[in-house]
Amino acid sequence: MAKPPKVCFDRILPSEMMKLQQTVPDRPGQVRGISPIGKTWMNGSTLHVRFMGGTPQQKKLVKEQAGWWTEHANLSFVFDDAPTAEIRIAFDENDGAWSYIGTDAKTIPVNQPTMNLGFLDGGTAAHEFGHAIGLAHEHQNPAGGIQWNEQAVIRAMAGAPNFWSEAQTRHNILRKYAANQINGTEFDPKSVMLYFFPAEWTTNGIATSRNEVLSGLDKQFIAGAKMYPKSKPGVTGTVTELKVNPRRRTAASIGTFGEEDLFRFRVDQPGRHVIDTQGSTDVYMKLFGPDSQTALIAEDDDSGIASNARIAADLIEGEYFVQIRHWNRESGKGDYTISVRRTR
Ligand SMILES: [Zn+2]
Repeated sequence: MAKPPKVCFDRILPSEMMKLQQTVPDRPGQVRGISPIGKTWMNGSTLHVRFMGGTPQQKKLVKEQAGWWTEHANLSFVFDDAPTAEIRIAFDENDGAWSYIGTDAKTIPVNQPTMNLGFLDGGTAAHEFGHAIGLAHEHQNPAGGIQWNEQAVIRAMAGAPNFWSEAQTRHNILRKYAANQINGTEFDPKSVMLYFFPAEWTTNGIATSRNEVLSGLDKQFIAGAKMYPKSKPGVTGTVTELKVNPRRRTAASIGTFGEEDLFRFRVDQPGRHVIDTQGSTDVYMKLFGPDSQTALIAEDDDSGIASNARIAADLIEGEYFVQIRHWNRESGKGDYTISVRRTR
């Protein structure tokens, strides 16, 4: 019997299971590379990487494949084994290959890995780094057009080496992301984020090849306006300055789907600060700092008035960054205002 394919296991935060379980019917129209909204790092970020084990050979391969992304994306990786590194890689052969998606890694205790490379066949490290910078599985693209033979997939994954329950297989392979919850365009059969699977797994004869390098569309997508464009300078360039306790709220607008707005403010007097948006635009907010573009303090979707975002946090002195994205295609465009207030 042919060996079942090695499949990467999505790590999704328990709090998000419900959100991602929404599915929508496949839509005509073409979509490629996908990224759940709200999980990308700030454009221009430097991410530190710590190895938790691994041979020099394994580390070399990992660095090389991580570099495939930074060649195109406005991100950089520093392999300095920093104790607080955002990406922490274990090499446990009994734990398969997986990674948390994008900024989800910030919620994992620093003594635990955010990625495991139990095998390194082909482009596995590139695939897992794709997750680490915010990409989801291409086979879960709602525009994928894959008609799964569900029983065949469930049967195959129930055996060695995965031993997945039906629920795990449904979660990791069969379920698709809701079209309005992701950034993305057409289904890309050559994406490194697509896992190999045989034609018997589908009822419409779609099989995939083993994709071991980034596809042209992977490169385009990661460098695109919705992900990490090098043309957009990110936090080192145009960021709107916010004053704490301003006389007026700052007006802003999200013009196109996937756009992100960046703000910066300085805390001179430590204390509780409230950052919120107002308006009819459904936005998603992330707060980073102090003095860091990648240290995520909090994120919020709807704690404000209606579908506005609101974060209240005790902040020490330093510089903070606020990233605003919209939550979905239908309601995420338009004007809003933002302000930071110190409440005590
Ligand atoms: Zn994967």
